[in-house]
Amino acid sequence: MRDKSNMKITVGHLYPELLNLYGDRGNIACLMQRCLWRGIRAETIELNTEEDIDFTKLDIVLLGGGSDREQMLVCRRLKKIQEKFRDYVENNGVVIAVCGGYQLLGKYYQTDEGLIEGLNLLDIYTEQGEGRLIGNIILDSKLSDIPVVGFENHGGRTFLNDGCRPFGKVLYGAGNDGKSGYEGVIYKNVIGTYLHGPLLPKNSRICDYLLERALERKYGSVQLEKLDDWLEISANKYIFKRFMKRRRIAV
Ligand code: GLN
Repeated sequence: MRDKSNMKITVGHLYPELLNLYGDRGNIACLMQRCLWRGIRAETIELNTEEDIDFTKLDIVLLGGGSDREQMLVCRRLKKIQEKFRDYVENNGVVIAVCGGYQLLGKYYQTDEGLIEGLNLLDIYTEQGEGRLIGNIILDSKLSDIPVVGFENHGGRTFLNDGCRPFGKVLYGAGNDGKSGYEGVIYKNVIGTYLHGPLLPKNSRICDYLLERALERKYGSVQLEKLDDWLEISANKYIFKRFMKRRRIAV
């Protein structure tokens, strides 16, 4: 087996001063900790809007959620890194983008206050709808052998054009637009999702999926050591039972 002590994962946290809602930082803590538990070195670089970003130094990029106002501020800055970010994505760079960050990967987010231009890395677009979609959410995702659980709070409705796969099928909650029955997007090694919570501590399978993709890209094939996820799985089961039961009663 490959010597893991020589392995290192670098997570780039994009614009934490503007995009960091509902514990998005917890996703970073989870990525780091699950590396450290396995003897893999891990570091996080916070990249603020004024900084130039060297994507060749990054293995995982995280974009968190933000209010419409904050997204508007970030959108101007994104134009400057658009081409480098596109190369990173097309070269199978790993990205996890949550809520506001997810919307910004697409073509645009049309709000009542104006149009927020996205990075245009994915063939998706978002439009502000009537009211906000708020609450717990449960998905069935091909990337996890147990349900994916989280919390959503968004005014935008995201639509996927042909060729974009959703992250999961909604079992409980609203998802991308409250109607399609799907949530999030997967493109190459990019996951975009409305799930806060934060997502990764609540769904360790998704965290390991991202780590595996990042290690594979950097070092070739890797088999991640299994961790004792008893606590994570118990919490996940609790959420699943609590809300799915409620759904059956409501039906
Ligand atoms: N401002 C966006 C919306 O309301 C994203 C919100 C978020 O990141 N939670 O749809």
